[in-house]
Amino acid sequence: MNIHEYQAKQVLKGYGAPVAEGVAITSADEAEAAAKRLPGPLYVVKSQIHAGGRGKGKFKELGPEAKGGVRLARSIDEVVANVKEMLGNTLVTAQTGDAGKQVNRLYIEDGADIDRELYLSLLVDRSVGQIAFVASTEGGMDIETVAHDTPEKILTLPIDPLAGVTAEAAGKLCDALKLDGAAREDGLKLFPILYKAFTETDMSLLEINPLIVMTDGRLRVLDAKVSFDGNAMFRHDDIKALRDETEEDAKEIEASKWDLAYVALDGNIGCMVNGAGLAMATMDIIKLYGKEPANFCDVGGGASKEKVAAAFKIITADPAVQGILVNIFGGIMRCDVIAEGVVAAVKEVGLKVPLVVRLEGTNVDKGKAILNQSGLAITAADDLDDAAKKIVAAIG
Ligand code: GDP
Ligand code: MG
Repeated sequence: MNIHEYQAKQVLKGYGAPVAEGVAITSADEAEAAAKRLPGPLYVVKSQIHAGGRGKGKFKELGPEAKGGVRLARSIDEVVANVKEMLGNTLVTAQTGDAGKQVNRLYIEDGADIDRELYLSLLVDRSVGQIAFVASTEGGMDIETVAHDTPEKILTLPIDPLAGVTAEAAGKLCDALKLDGAAREDGLKLFPILYKAFTETDMSLLEINPLIVMTDGRLRVLDAKVSFDGNAMFRHDDIKALRDETEEDAKEIEASKWDLAYVALDGNIGCMVNGAGLAMATMDIIKLYGKEPANFCDVGGGASKEKVAAAFKIITADPAVQGILVNIFGGIMRCDVIAEGVVAAVKEVGLKVPLVVRLEGTNVDKGKAILNQSGLAITAADDLDDAAKKIVAAIG
């Protein structure tokens, strides 16, 4: 689950991290009062969308000459003028795709005088099974580019979960970021704070790009991108409340209500599969035969007929879907339940695209019988390879 920058900063502030004062607004009427609550004379007007690269982004409606999605303002009038220009428009950044994202909320922040921009993040490093810091002096740029061009400028530092952020670890991070004086003192305090916030709230990513050294020598968290582990949200009602469904794919929201592992993708073959591994293999084999999956959808083990029907409806409701591949290996999941779910969903919403079904495992004969007796135009497949070939051929 992702949240907005202003919310991420609120969470980090609660743990004692240095962030600027700011006010989030959703209408231009609020701009003047918001700016008046800040000290000035420098303000920043920041688009709140669930995507990075806002500063270099462009508003669709304003043309290529207009300024981006993060703007400095030197007076309250300038804040108001920028708010009026930005709010409601569509921001296209390197991360939004061509469609862009509508900016419905702006964050007005107290501007900082920047000396240096640094990069600092925390993530779950699966290669070592620990949470790791990633630090670099090259802030404000895309970290993938830094990793590609100058990998020696990045320090990845896994943190031992029993020891936490030791003085030694904090020192290494300070060295990697070339912090001294007041900035070093701030850093030594900040790293354990970030680690605590990360672990206590079950974050899966915390990216501060940039972390800045200000001209007065102090550190400040200037940008913050936070993702949480959705599976842990049951124990964080306060964080769950930060969810902004307008930023999410409508199909993914519906899927989350049914506790389905569903991710919308760009292709046109809808997939309904059980088990994440089989779902990945199904997507791979579709690609192998030259087409692209429209989604990742794992109905899991032991799903009910209603859940299967909900998954099938979500897949068919996607206008990009030109064909559907159901690939089930019934272990805990029973093939007859899958068949019943598919038939129930088709009865309700119809079936306008080719459907290829490969069933194997528990109650497979019962499942096949249900599908055969349903009178639906289903193409049966013997195995995964056969299934992928058939659905690719069916959509042409
Ligand atoms: P992003 O483009 O979505 O990553 O948004 P950021 O919050 O990282 O802002 C983009 C850039 O705007 C930063 O890298 C800074 O160079 C600049 N910027 C943001 N806030 C301030 C500020 O308070 N003062 C100054 N001088 N520049 C800022
Ligand atoms: Mg940034």
